[in-house]
Amino acid sequence: MSHTHPEGPELTDSERAFRAEAREWLAAHNPGRLPSMDTDEGAALHRAWEATLAEGRWSVVAWPEQYGGREASLTEWVIFEEEYYLAGAPTRIAQNGISLLAPIIFEHGTPEQQERWLRPMTDGSLVWAQAWSEPEAGSDLAGIRSRAVRDDERGGWVLSGQKTWSSRAPYADRGFGLFRTDPEAARHRGLTYMTFPLDVPGITVRPVHQLDGDAGFAEIFFDDVFVPDADVLGGVGDGWRVAMSTAGNERGLSLRAPGRFMAAADRLLDLWAERGADAPHLRDRVVDAWIGAEAYRLYTWGTVDKLSGGGDMGADGSVNKLFWSELDLELHETALDLLGPEAELRGPGAPSGGSWVDDHLFSLAGPIYAGTNEIQRNIVAERILGLPRGENRRAGA
Ligand SMILES: Cc1cc2nc3c(=O)[nH]c(=O)nc-3n(C[C@H](O)[C@H](O)[C@H](O)COP(=O)(O)OP(=O)(O)OC[C@H]3O[C@@H](n4cnc5c(N)ncnc54)[C@H](O)[C@@H]3O)c2cc1C
Repeated sequence: MSHTHPEGPELTDSERAFRAEAREWLAAHNPGRLPSMDTDEGAALHRAWEATLAEGRWSVVAWPEQYGGREASLTEWVIFEEEYYLAGAPTRIAQNGISLLAPIIFEHGTPEQQERWLRPMTDGSLVWAQAWSEPEAGSDLAGIRSRAVRDDERGGWVLSGQKTWSSRAPYADRGFGLFRTDPEAARHRGLTYMTFPLDVPGITVRPVHQLDGDAGFAEIFFDDVFVPDADVLGGVGDGWRVAMSTAGNERGLSLRAPGRFMAAADRLLDLWAERGADAPHLRDRVVDAWIGAEAYRLYTWGTVDKLSGGGDMGADGSVNKLFWSELDLELHETALDLLGPEAELRGPGAPSGGSWVDDHLFSLAGPIYAGTNEIQRNIVAERILGLPRGENRRAGA
């Protein structure tokens, strides 16, 4: 059941029509929750869902029509995301490509790369993994050690080294990440943005199992993997600048539009209607979680207003990230407390098919991925509050 949400901004007639069209299409096509995309069966079903979305031109609403989009405004994009999550539609296996890589391809890719990569990532036929983190380079990304050595004869680069925590890699087709092309240059310089297939000789993808048991990530080992110049994204040595536009996307609006939390808050209210009589002491937490989801929604509309007026996200993306990750935890912890001992159950016989416990396990990762919350707090402290830098920071972090 969908609960009433206070009005966001005043919508125009065409924005209302856009909302109605999205709602109607989703009602007719949404398959609901699919098996985890980090399994063979789930990955195939999620790819098929991407193809259905693309057929209906709902895969990348904000993109140019040439690549399957509707050239939707930022406002329409947020409307679509609200409808998507309120409909309970599946998580997106194509998200790394669409949200993290595509903005970079649009900005820095050659026309040939745009032609080759953009369309296939909208219909599930080309799934990407983000290969940034390394064993010694997570928060301190400039510490990257994986190398790319020039091979003039073949017209490209030879990659060696290791990446880790690469989401979707066990089921993805290609990866993207930074490699050190100039070992002599300062830490942030001498890095280049490379893309590579995951099924070529020299690459080993070793799945890493998450808390829920699924292989949601992998380590990727590079043992002299050749990458042609045509697969290098942006200028050689310019990788840091290119990558920073991705970080802005990941931490900002694109990864966590409010629809997801509104939908979870709605489900929490439904659970309260079923179980609340047995746990009246949890009422305030249910109310706080719902208010938090609405506050995030209204803050997001404020950001949309700011961006539409020509402003940029700046360090606000860090405030967003802190807020949604803590809200997500609180929402799910409250649900588990309402379920009591049954919260531990997973699988078909469990309340809501075990989705509360599965989503709770994922919410635990929120304060870590997309830049840890400690790092976000540093950014808020320094760039928004103007506090002095801490004494014991690692250089470059
Ligand atoms: C669910 C999930 C999905 C992920 N997906 C991907 C992916 O697809 N691709 C990818 O490349 N990576 C991915 N990651 C990895 C993620 O980006 C890193 O885990 C994250 O950047 C932190 O790096 P780290 O694990 O090396 O921790 P470290 O950087 O070693 O940090 C350890 C702890 O120290 C703290 N810390 C470090 N430096 C500072 C500082 N200067 N000030 C204050 N505190 C500090 C951190 O906040 C953290 O609590 C994923 C992680 C998770 C959990």
